[in-house]
Parts: sequence; structure tokens; C-alpha cells
Amino acid sequence: MSADLPDVRQTRLDNYVDRYAARTKGMTASEIRALFSVASRPEVVSLAGGMPNIAGLPLDVVGGAVRDLVVDNGAVAMQYGSGQGDPTLRDQICDVMRLEGIDAHPDDIVVTVGSQQAVDLVTRVFCDPGDVVICEAPSYVGALGVFRAYQCEVVHVAMDDDGVVPEALEQAIAAVRAAGKKIKFFYTIPNFHNPAGISLSDERRRRVLEICQRADLLILEDNPYGLLGFDGEPQRALRADDREGVIYLGSFSKTFAPGFRVGWAVAPHAVREKLVLAQESATLCPPIFSQLAISSYLMRHDWLGQVKQFREMYRERRDAMLAALADKMPAATTWTRPGGGFYVWLTLPDGLDSKAMLPRAVTARVAYVPGTAFFADGFGSQCMRLSYCHPTPERITEGVARLAAVINEELEL
Ligand code: PMP
Repeated sequence: MSADLPDVRQTRLDNYVDRYAARTKGMTASEIRALFSVASRPEVVSLAGGMPNIAGLPLDVVGGAVRDLVVDNGAVAMQYGSGQGDPTLRDQICDVMRLEGIDAHPDDIVVTVGSQQAVDLVTRVFCDPGDVVICEAPSYVGALGVFRAYQCEVVHVAMDDDGVVPEALEQAIAAVRAAGKKIKFFYTIPNFHNPAGISLSDERRRRVLEICQRADLLILEDNPYGLLGFDGEPQRALRADDREGVIYLGSFSKTFAPGFRVGWAVAPHAVREKLVLAQESATLCPPIFSQLAISSYLMRHDWLGQVKQFREMYRERRDAMLAALADKMPAATTWTRPGGGFYVWLTLPDGLDSKAMLPRAVTARVAYVPGTAFFADGFGSQCMRLSYCHPTPERITEGVARLAAVINEELEL
């Protein structure tokens, strides 16, 4: 490089920007990722992250399962495996799903690298650039990232305290189709929604199924939190009442541990075949070691008893958050009251902006995720997601008090 010509490689932030595929432009770090380093400082109460609290897991049992796997079955556990997933684990997954009314055959299941990869595979199989995916407003940030990466257009549909509003769903379907666009599926999180903390009521489940059946629209039911309800039995999955119109996604991340990266999709037979082909081209096979370790854990441990313990631990934290919110938040602040899962969705008084307020909150040693992260279109600035899954109840109470003080200061400005 001659001395008088500037080296363009050193003047640009990203030297490869002109070479990326069009889809790569949609790949940006989520607001949550950017927050991680700040929120993980010990003095900050993080109500931002949604990491499961796995401190209660029986490490001796898990350790025994992993050790025996290596010693007794290492040649299989450390080899490539089936692209569809281990047959024994798929059988056990059928038992797990029976708790939500789903009667599946192991052959209907494809095991994935967390349910995150299942969202990716379904989108890869169905969506061309410009296709529409209907999502709730707000929706899961990780799924929005997938839809963006495949250059889909996301159309949000309003929710209320009972979940997605059926009339709004019907109108959105009609409006998108009237504009000549193809809708590939309705992506929904019916239980303990991330980030809204809301569940779809029984009556709404019937309506949503009816509407989508009439419109011949596939449903992508993403259900990682279904077994983490604080009251009564798990709600019936949409898939339980429609085997042809619903692709169901499940995960061991919240009922066991996310580090194994094992989730699954249950789909109509033809779709399942395409998902396996997509899985094989993406990873050859889901990690056999993780699958066999989970399979052994499910066999040798009272895993449902463990899920009950998780529920109690999360309930205590939910209670702490709701009590602190009721005690500390200024009037005109509203929030959802989750019956399970990890999240509360809070709406600030008019005129406040959660993204603009975040630096002040972090200075006051509390972090949250601004609502805009959960919309494809910039909405949500008056809202935020608060997670209660990780901090202790005392820290949650302290974090909410700090947040309320920041909101009060903003109101006085
Ligand atoms: N869907 C939703 C709604 C989630 O909240 C998450 C995790 N935060 C996932 C999917 C992905 O979970 P995993 O890949 O660990 O199964």
C-alpha cells in the first residue's frame, strides 16, 4: 500500500459491508445483547435478562448421567446421530407434550438446537423474502431476528389481557391479503408470553384456531414456558386441537437447562420431512451428546418434581415483583400480571420513553429491556420488559424501587 493512498481497510468500520448478502443487512445485535455487559455488573439489579434460574438443578444427578453416558455409551454419544433426533428422546418428548394435551407420534418430531433453531428452520422452509409473518404486538425478540434475517415482513397484531385480539388478527389477515402479499404463518406464544407476560384464554384459543383454519393460515405455536404456570394444570396447546394447522415448538431450556441446547418441533408429516432436510443442511444432526444426557436425566430423575420446584421459585419472584410494583410505581404506570413464566410488561406514564430513560436507570443501578426491542417497526417506546426469573426476591424489590425512583424523576423533569 503506497504511503499517500489511504488504506480503505482501515477507514471503514466494516470492510466487508459491500459484499454481504442482502439478508445480512437485517442481522443486527438485539438491544438485549448490547445490554448484557452493563446489566451484568454486580451493583446493577438486572431485570433485563431472561436467563432461566438453574441454581436448583440436582448437579449430582446430572453429573452422574453425563459420566455414565461417557463411560457406558461414549461411542454412540460422541458420534454423529440422526438428523431427526434420537428416537428414545423423541419418545420421551411425546410424554412431555401429553401434559398439554398433545397426542404426538415420535415420528412427528424433529429435535433442534433449542427452540430458537426450530424457529429458524420453520422460517427457512416456508419464507421467501417479502413474505409476511404475523406476530403478536409485542413479540419475542429472538424470533423477530430470525424473520428479519430471512427478509420477511412482520405484521404485528394487538394483544389484551386475554392474549391476541381475534378481531385484530382477522383484520390483519384480510388487510395483508388485500395488499396482494403472502402470509406464511401466525407466530404466537400462547403461554406466559415473552415479553408480554400474558396467556391466551381458553375461549381465545378456540377463536384463534377457527380464524386460522378459515383463513387456511398455519400457526407457529412457540411454547417454552407452558409447564411453568403458577396455578393449576398446564393449558391445552393449540396443537392439541389441530394437528394439520399448527407447528408446535417446545424446549428443555426452561424445564431443565438451556446449556444443552435441545428443543423440538412437531409438525404435519410433510412439513416434518422438510424440517429434517433443513436441519441436516444446517447442522447434519442435533447434538447427540446433549440429547442422550437429557434422555438419561428424564429417566433417572423426578424431572416433573424439579419443574414444580422451579415453579415455586419463580412464583416467589413474581410475587415479589408484583408487590414491589404495586407499592412503588407512580400512578398511570400499568403492568401485566403473569400467571407463570418469567416476564412482566410495564407501560410508562404518557410522555416517557423507556429507551431514552435507560442510561438514567443504569446510573441508578437497575436495568430492563426497552419495549422497542420487541417490535419490528419501532413501536413500544412507552413500554419495557421486566424479568423476575433471576434476581433474589430482595434484589427484585430493590430493583423495582430504584426503577420507580427513576420514573418519578423523569415525571418531574
Ligand atoms: N421462544 C421464546 C418465546 C423464548 O423466550 C426463547 C428463549 N428466551 C426461545 C424461543 C428460545 O429458547 P431455546 O432456544 O433456549 O429453546
